[in-house]
Formats: sequence, C-alpha cells, structure tokens
Amino acid sequence: MAFDAEAIRADFPILSRQVHGKPLVYLDSAASAQKPRAVIEAMSRAMEYSYANVHRGLHTLANETTDAYEAARRKAAAFIGAAETEVVFTKGGTEAINLVAAGIGASLQAGDEIVVSEMEHHANIVPWHFLRERKGVVLKWARVTDRGDLDLEHFQSLLGPKTKVVALSHMSNVLGTINPAQDLARMAHEVGAIVLFDGCQSIVHKPIDVKAIDADFYVFSGHKLYGPTGIGILYGKAERLAALPPYQGGGEMIGTVSQDEITYADPPHRFEAGTPPILEAIGLGAAIDWLSGLDRIAIAAHEKALYDRVREGLAGANWLRVIGDTPEKGAILSFTVDGAHAHDVAQILDRYGVAVRAGTHCAEPLMKRFGVTSSARASFALYNTEDEADAFVQALTKAQAFFA
Ligand code: PMP
Repeated sequence: MAFDAEAIRADFPILSRQVHGKPLVYLDSAASAQKPRAVIEAMSRAMEYSYANVHRGLHTLANETTDAYEAARRKAAAFIGAAETEVVFTKGGTEAINLVAAGIGASLQAGDEIVVSEMEHHANIVPWHFLRERKGVVLKWARVTDRGDLDLEHFQSLLGPKTKVVALSHMSNVLGTINPAQDLARMAHEVGAIVLFDGCQSIVHKPIDVKAIDADFYVFSGHKLYGPTGIGILYGKAERLAALPPYQGGGEMIGTVSQDEITYADPPHRFEAGTPPILEAIGLGAAIDWLSGLDRIAIAAHEKALYDRVREGLAGANWLRVIGDTPEKGAILSFTVDGAHAHDVAQILDRYGVAVRAGTHCAEPLMKRFGVTSSARASFALYNTEDEADAFVQALTKAQAFFA
C-alpha cells in the first residue's frame, strides 16, 4: 500500500501553519526535520512528570530518568543493529565525528593518510583537517563524477598501506547520492584502515544495519530524524570504542579519580562527560519508536516519487541546472537558476510559503567541484505531498520569471 503522507501530517502540528499567508511547504528537512507530536509529548512528559539528573541518584525520579535515558540508548542501538554498549550519545553528528577524529588522531603520525571525498559535509572534513594541521597527516580526496557519484576507481587508487582512516558520507546532503557503504568498508578494510560513515542523511531515508555494512564508526544526528536538536549518535564497534581515549573529561566518564591518578569508565559512558542531553535522548527515543511503527521502505519510495514528480514538472526548464543526477540517490534536489543567486531564489520561494535552503550547504569543496559558489536545495520528507511538490514547481517557475 502506498504511504499515506496526508494522514501522517496530522502528527506534525507545525505543518498546519501559514507563511506569508500561504500554506507552509517545508522542503528543508535535510537541514532539520519537523517534529511529530510523539517527540514533543515525550519531552514535555519527562519535564512535567519524571525528570532529574541521570546516573547519580538513589531517588525515584533519578532512577526513572536514568531508565528512560538508557532505554533511548537501547532503541537507538536496535534501530541500527548495534549492541547498546556500542552507542554513545553526543550532541550531534558533528560532535560524534570530532570525538572519533580526536581519539584516533592521538595515535596518528605525520605522513599517515586519511581518505575523504569531495562530497563531504564540513563536519566530516574539518575534524580531519585539524589532524593535518596538528599532526601532519595527509588528506586524500576521492573524486566525484559529473553525475554526482563517488568515483570508485579513484577512491580505490587512493587506498594503500599509509591509509589509516576512511571517512565518507553514506548519503550526500547536497547531491542526494547514496554511496555503497558495504563495498567502501570492504575496500577500506582490505588495506587495514578504520572506516567511519557520516550517516546524518542516510539514517533518515534508509534502514541501516551497521553490522551488515561492517562500519567501524557510524554517526548520525537526532534532529534530521524527526527528533530534537542537541542529540546525536556515535556507533563504534566495541573494540574500536575500547581503543579510543576519552574526548572530554568530567562527570560520569571516570572510573575513579584521585590526586595522582585517574581511571576511566568503559564505553559508552567514557565518552559522555558531564550532564548528558537527557531530554534530547528521550526525544530521540520517541522519534525512533514513532518511525519504527511506519513502513520505511514505503516512505523512501514516497519521497523518491515526490522527487521524480518535481523533476518531471521541471523537465522543460532550460534555466535550471540540477547538481547531482545519479539514479542511486535519495530525495534531495540541489539546483541553480540561470542568472539568479541561490539566496534570492530561496527568498522569493519563501514568499510563496515554500521553504528551501540556499548556500554552500557546508560543502565548499563540492561546490568548487561543480564550479558553483552556491546552490538552492529542496529536500523531501515523509510528510511532503504531491500537492506540495506541484506547489514548489509552480513557485519556482514564477520565481524564475523574476530573473529571466
Ligand atoms: N553530515 C551531514 C551529511 C549533514 O547533512 C549534517 C547536517 N547538516 C551534518 C553532518 C552535521 O550534523 P549535526 O547537525 O548533527 O551536527
């Protein structure tokens, strides 16, 4: 049965609002998704009924909150096929990658190589650049083809005995390209490298099994997965997490502390210094429960059908340049309009109630690769409808007329 987006919209209070007197058409979910009532209510309920700091108390509210926090960890683990001890709560995808890079970086030497790709988000570039600056490691950049695929032959040619880390996006936030994670992990492991996937986009659009992929690390954020901001997941294979030094110090990440010595807690708590994002973890757990009750394959098909509908609607638009055109992609449309700055396009679309993103999308190397300084981006989520896809096509066609 086809996925019923109209019915699901009732779960999202914000979607009934208007913008500039027009119904909101929210096509910016790749930046951050809207929140279903289940998430909003789970967080409010915790604050209204059962809230305290976790792990420290002997009183009822502390115990209940700790149970809810750890239950969220189990939900996140089950969602990606991991053990619960392999799931670390972070404040987002960015922090998760920084945590891994800082930890691995401690044992890298000058001349060691890290392979990234031209399609990475800055979150999966800058932490590795730190290691280039601070440790003298060498960054190698896998190319992206004109169609927006990762150039697998070129990627393979970069791998060798010096490759210590391969850090790649599972799905590009600009191109929508979904990379063959399992193959990439196998190739990386053949040369003994550690492989990290940035799953911030893919987690939303595909069921993920980190064991089937054989990822050493897999990271994603809560806020794109219909959960709250301020929460992310770092999955690490048990032996990989065990080998990582702590990232931040304080709070519950210790074993014991004395004036002369310190021991650390086992993962995952070793990486959760200070009061963690408790409410946000509970909210993410609720988002995962909510999403798990839906047919995720049907959702992906629904989103792709909206993307295809928009492409068809704009088929005759000779003023449009689409960036990222591989068939192996999720429902993200990045584009430029001839003669127009992407920011102006986005601002005009906003007058029609249509929310899209414009800029470099935190992917400046990719913008350079495609010879543009910025692009606009429409991203489709489970709550978008065919009417909204059509409204976007109409609004964009009208916006274009301003620049013709
Ligand atoms: N990687 C990708 C591919 C992303 O799209 C984003 C979010 N824009 C991030 C990383 C950063 O994640 P977060 O917002 O959770 O820090």
